Amino acid sequence: MFIDEAEIYVRSGKGGDGCMSFRREKFEAFGGPDGGTGGDGGHVYLVATEGIDTLMDFSGKHHWRAENGQPGQGSGCTGRNGRDLRIQMPVGTLVYDADTGVLLKDLARPGDECRVVEGGKGGRGNKSFATPTQQAPRQWEPGSPAQQRQLRLELKLIADIGLVGLPNAGKSTLLSRMSKARPKIGAYPFTTLEPQLGIVELPGERRVVMADLPGLIEGAHQGAGLGDAFLRHIERTRVILHLIDVAPLDGRSPADAYRSIRNELASYSGTLASKPELVVATKIDLDQSGELIKDLEEEIGVAVVAVSAVSSKGMPNLRNRLLGLIGGSQEPTVFKHDLPTPPHLRDDYGDEHDG
Ligand code: GDP
Ligand code: MG
Repeated sequence: MFIDEAEIYVRSGKGGDGCMSFRREKFEAFGGPDGGTGGDGGHVYLVATEGIDTLMDFSGKHHWRAENGQPGQGSGCTGRNGRDLRIQMPVGTLVYDADTGVLLKDLARPGDECRVVEGGKGGRGNKSFATPTQQAPRQWEPGSPAQQRQLRLELKLIADIGLVGLPNAGKSTLLSRMSKARPKIGAYPFTTLEPQLGIVELPGERRVVMADLPGLIEGAHQGAGLGDAFLRHIERTRVILHLIDVAPLDGRSPADAYRSIRNELASYSGTLASKPELVVATKIDLDQSGELIKDLEEEIGVAVVAVSAVSSKGMPNLRNRLLGLIGGSQEPTVFKHDLPTPPHLRDDYGDEHDG
């Protein structure tokens, strides 16, 4: 399970203070009390919104505040209410109170929303305190205070793109060149195997998760026992990106490398092996003539995308090709809750993120 996390601070608007005022008119000696009520402070809502893929944007903005209510005024005028703040969240975001660890809301469907802090009520002005026996009250109420809260947001992600290839094919390098952020790994007992992950930005502000899979394959062969739940998760990968070093140091034929990984994939998971695959020739800076790529294509009978992580050649093309393979589907990239959620809420979370 891959988890995108963010922590944000939200604060509602405080209520506007009530007003203390007396009517003043020409030729009228004692005007009555006319101090109006303060406006209510704005609430803060989190709203599940389609088209937002990750929590990445929240790593840059931690503080979110709704507007305060305006104070009441003379002539019985009520202060303006503070505007609510509606923060757009990816569909599937789990909203936790960061201090208590309590799950406040599962924003499972588009349009689901959750009021996380409530705006303060506006205070009454002295006009409201007038009674038959007390006709010139000087009392007024302050607006009630704002609420604040630290929230932890959590989004379970699917690995949209699985990277495979022999050791040294250039997987880690490509992942680090393409990705902007790293989701966490959920509470599956991976033993010592941690798949490498990255959130990759594609044209059109699509963000997808890329995961390095061969570590998993090798691990499974060594009996590392990754567990069915994880396999099922990884099998939701939409595209396999198969990396081939066109100029391997050991002189092994690139076509051979391709076939051996295909075999390994098929023996590990038929489901994975039947996914759409994009074959990527890496390190093309080492193949100035382009001969090696041509040979590879001829031998395996598949057109390849050629890239170099060193010179960046072919990288924009690779992003476009990935978008083409992934973008057509309307399926959200969010993990649907049909696997049991592991009890991964950690008590120590707040400590390391404070300050
Ligand atoms: P992995 O085992 O598949 O994760 O491969 P790595 O990403 O660790 O890369 C293996 C080696 O290839 C490293 O020494 C990289 O610096 C090198 N490498 C990766 N990409 C390129 C590339 O585009 N051009 C060249 N010349 N070397 C590369
Ligand atoms: Mg690697």
